[in-house]
Amino acid sequence: MKHPEVRIIGGGLAGSEAAHVLARNGVLLELFEMRPSRMTPAHKTDLLAELVCSNSFKGTDALTAHGILKREMEGLGSLVMSAAMMTRVPAGKALAVDRTSFASFITAHLMNHSSITHRREECSLIDGNLPTIIATGPLTSDALAQHLASITTGTRLFFYDAISPIIDAGSIDMSHVFAASRWSDTSTDYLNCPMSKIEYSRFLEQLLSADRVQAREFEDAGFFEACLPVEVLALRGTDALRYGPMRPVGLHDPKTGSRPYAVIQLRRENLRGDAYTMVGFQTRLTHPEQKRVISLIPALRNARFLRFGSIHRNTYLDSPRILESDLRLRGHRNIYLAGQITGVEGYMESAAMGIMAGLSALAELKGIHFSPPGPETAIGSLMSYITDRSLERFQPMNINFGIMPLPDAPKARRAEARSEEALHVFEAWKQTMKPLLGDV
Ligand SMILES: Cc1cc2nc3c(=O)[nH]c(=O)nc-3n(C[C@H](O)[C@H](O)[C@H](O)COP(=O)(O)OP(=O)(O)OC[C@H]3O[C@@H](n4cnc5c(N)ncnc54)[C@H](O)[C@@H]3O)c2cc1C
Repeated sequence: MKHPEVRIIGGGLAGSEAAHVLARNGVLLELFEMRPSRMTPAHKTDLLAELVCSNSFKGTDALTAHGILKREMEGLGSLVMSAAMMTRVPAGKALAVDRTSFASFITAHLMNHSSITHRREECSLIDGNLPTIIATGPLTSDALAQHLASITTGTRLFFYDAISPIIDAGSIDMSHVFAASRWSDTSTDYLNCPMSKIEYSRFLEQLLSADRVQAREFEDAGFFEACLPVEVLALRGTDALRYGPMRPVGLHDPKTGSRPYAVIQLRRENLRGDAYTMVGFQTRLTHPEQKRVISLIPALRNARFLRFGSIHRNTYLDSPRILESDLRLRGHRNIYLAGQITGVEGYMESAAMGIMAGLSALAELKGIHFSPPGPETAIGSLMSYITDRSLERFQPMNINFGIMPLPDAPKARRAEARSEEALHVFEAWKQTMKPLLGDV
């Protein structure tokens, strides 16, 4: 094969999508995948696009954020979506697949492509002279992670993800909340959810006995001292949480005029104020248990979760600080990032970023200006989230309505309005990108 025009590092979900976009357009590329010679701690096979955990891609309903994302991916000729539809297994409203058939379908498709040279080896250095898409995922090899840290000033690369739940503001019971900042008479930046001694004791008892997601062997629990899950912190004593994330000091409940026994603070997640993060509340409880236990906090008894809490091994970059809106690494015009390493979370979200990085690199080769779709679309909202410089503390995010703009529609019609608007904006964007997209 002649010299490659593009290099892709990582043959997971994102790398496979990027390879598909470029190869379909006749671009010669080389795809580095280190398995099977070097395995990650979670992958088990040598197949491209292996699913490391669940075999579900969540729902397809176009009235949900997950469904809108899938519709857009299909609209861009996604290989992951084609493979998923071909290898689907019955799973109610969810799109679930036979994982071996799914990965085999993608592997066969890419292995048989004459534009792709497959290199089954670890790539640990980035050649800045060749357009390169880095799609090495949450378990990026150590050597490449070190190299990435060196070109992104180190502090911009994270290895673990300690995520607190995000709650839909509309589901918070405001009659059990007061707005205030700790030690301040004037600031009302936080929503505080007070608890009495009896409520706290009941909450603690249930928290300690709730089911947890088991840590994997490679996820060394010792590492988490700096950001312990609340259920582990709670094991240290009855008052450990009251001296930690649930401390009431510096807060006065205007209803009682005194300091609550314990408090959960909620911090705004976005400017619109329709999503709130539970401050310092990273947890490894299973999702149903998070729902059950957190509903014991009076203000959160009907909480709707936009994102559940979790803690897991995850290599990702501080994208808002180092990524351009076309997924290029700032100051390195030839380096593109794709997949989970950009700070999106989830199979489909990662694959979607693979399509976008592939299109962005293709645009450069064709001399076409690339701009992402608007934030009203699912893909555009993810891209805008990961490149939003106003985010001070960047944390990975899955697709959800909380990162999409609120449509101008009554509450009962919001999901439809969102879906229609996303479709409209997406189709208009496709028209503007026609020279790049052709007839997909
Ligand atoms: C343990 C675990 C469980 C997860 N479970 C789920 C889940 O159930 N549902 C969900 O939606 N998301 C889950 N995720 C998150 C995420 O969606 C997946 O990790 C997803 O596969 C990310 O896609 P990706 O293409 O970015 O990375 P990957 O699919 O991991 O692909 C990256 C590829 O790069 C290769 N690679 C790494 N370094 C190098 C190198 N230096 N040179 C060459 N190749 C390299 C790897 O072998 C791998 O094949 C999970 C993540 C982890 C770590």
